[in-house]
Amino acid sequence: MTWRNQAACRNEDPELFYPLPASDASESHAKSICQTCPVSNNCLIEALTSGAPDGIWGGLNDAERRNLKRRQTGTAA
Ligand code: SF4
Repeated sequence: MTWRNQAACRNEDPELFYPLPASDASESHAKSICQTCPVSNNCLIEALTSGAPDGIWGGLNDAERRNLKRRQTGTAA
């Protein structure tokens, strides 16, 4: 059993999360599901380590993940 089996989004439409939410409302809905997810840290770590460019992972969109990575590495924008 992998962390994906415990994902809060496992029964949701994948297009809500990937590649890009259709609207701000869709993104907010996807992120609200991520907030209830017991494996959000696993999801976020996978996105950060694999360089997933698009979609909502671990409750963050691609721009938010890039910002997080910059803060972690201390690199300039
Ligand atoms: S954090 Fe969000 S996108 Fe990642 S597995 Fe959980 S519900 Fe799915």
